[in-house]
This record gives sequence, C-alpha cells and structure tokens, in this order.
Amino acid sequence: MTITRRTFVSGLMALPLAGRASAREDNPFHLSGLPRQGVALRGTVPHDTMLLMLDDLRIDFTHDGRFLIAFDRDAPVEAVLRAETQQDIVVEQRLAVASGNWQIEQVDAPLLGGAQSSEEFQKLRAGELEQIAAARAVRSGSEGWRQTFIWPVKARISGRFGAQRIYRGTPAAYHNGVDLAGGLGTTYVAPADGVVVLAAAQPFTLEGNLLILDHGEGLNSALLHSRELLVKPGDKVKQGQPIGRIGATGRVSGPHLHWAVKWRDARIDPMTLVES
Ligand SMILES: [Zn+2]
Repeated sequence: MTITRRTFVSGLMALPLAGRASAREDNPFHLSGLPRQGVALRGTVPHDTMLLMLDDLRIDFTHDGRFLIAFDRDAPVEAVLRAETQQDIVVEQRLAVASGNWQIEQVDAPLLGGAQSSEEFQKLRAGELEQIAAARAVRSGSEGWRQTFIWPVKARISGRFGAQRIYRGTPAAYHNGVDLAGGLGTTYVAPADGVVVLAAAQPFTLEGNLLILDHGEGLNSALLHSRELLVKPGDKVKQGQPIGRIGATGRVSGPHLHWAVKWRDARIDPMTLVES
C-alpha cells in the first residue's frame, strides 16, 4: 500500500508540515485582477500543477500554466481555487468575490410576461436554444481568450451588462450583455481571435441574426441582431476582422449590437475584458 502524504496549503496560512511551510508563498497562484461578479480573470498555476479546480469545476490550463476563470453575474461571495502538484502538494486559495453593483431599477408596474409564449413560438425556440447550446459546447482550441479584447464597434453604450428592472418586487431577467448603439449597417469586428461556432442562416426569434465566436478555454462571444453576417460557421477570425453589420433583427426596439460573453455557464460583463 502506498501512503500518500499531502501537504495542504490554504489561504495565506501555510500549514507547517514536512518542511513545506512556505509552499504557498514560494509557489502561489497568480491572478490578473481581483475576483468580482461578472469578471473573468487570467491566471498562472503554481509550478508542477497537475490538476486545477475552481470549486467543483475542473479548469484546463495550457502547457505554459495559463488559465482562465470567471465569476457569474450572480456568483456567490466566495470561491476556492485549488491546485494539486506533482509533489502531492495541495495549494488552495480562497477568493472573496466582490459584488457587481448592478444597475437595479424599481418599477411601479406589474411585470408583464408571456407575450411570446404561444405553442408555435415555444417549438421554434426549443430548436434555437438547442443550436445555441450545441455551438457553445464546441471546443475550438482558439487562443483568443489570452488577448485583451477590443470593442466590436466604437459606439455609445446604450445598455449595461447586469442591469435589471424589478416590477413591484418581481425581478425581470437581467440584461446579459452590453448594448452598443452603432448605426444600422455599421460594420463590427471580432473582439478577439476566435472560431465561428454559430452564424444563423435565418434570424432567431429573439436574437435575430446571431453570431457566436468561441475564444477557447470555455469563453465565447455572442453578437446579436445583425443585419448581415460576414462570416460562416467554422471560419477562424482574427481580432479586429470585420464579422458583421449592425441591424435590428430579432426582438429589438431599434438597431444596436448586443454583445454577450459567457465562460462555461457563467455570464460575464464584456466590458471587463476590454482595456479601457
Ligand atoms: Zn442588449
């Protein structure tokens, strides 16, 4: 029988076991910023890491030890990052996840729903959601996630990520992207390198002409309501490459580009990926 001795290093305090007391200080995680709801962080694993976990999610990391993690708009206040190394050392870091301070608006009116709950809509919608889920499941191996993102179009921000209206105590769905009020027909570009995993052949009921780019490591961008898409599924695109033209397709009140970003199941604020 092999008995594996594990040195367990947690938080800022290293347990004084087997002379590994300073293991964490010698060999910590590096993160690109502070954990916060709606934010993605890039990081580097401790040396000789074999397994990396964020809570119960297994996180991939590259041969050079780089990884990406993100916190959902409604992520809990604490997360634990954990690495197991070849030397059987466990390095654990507790992350305090700051609140996103979302724009919340109280509305003194009842929440009206179900305007599009007809059987026909539901049937159509199920097929669309399937396509979206299939696209987001593609692992293209793109390395766009390593880049500092750029705005798809330089335009006024007309809707912020995370914003939510509460109708007499009943919250409506929050705004899951950022709205860019570019004019109808304005060309927009890829915010980072990626692979086209969905380019709607015909407008989706809500998203209109929907485009999804995979940036690798579970990170993807969705660009909604386009008048026209300039790329097709499977295309590799470079940051800054024109990929579509702004439109008003799907459920919109006027032409704009809605840009939404997900990392695995977490919805994050696209603005935080862009250097301001
Ligand atoms: Zn929007």
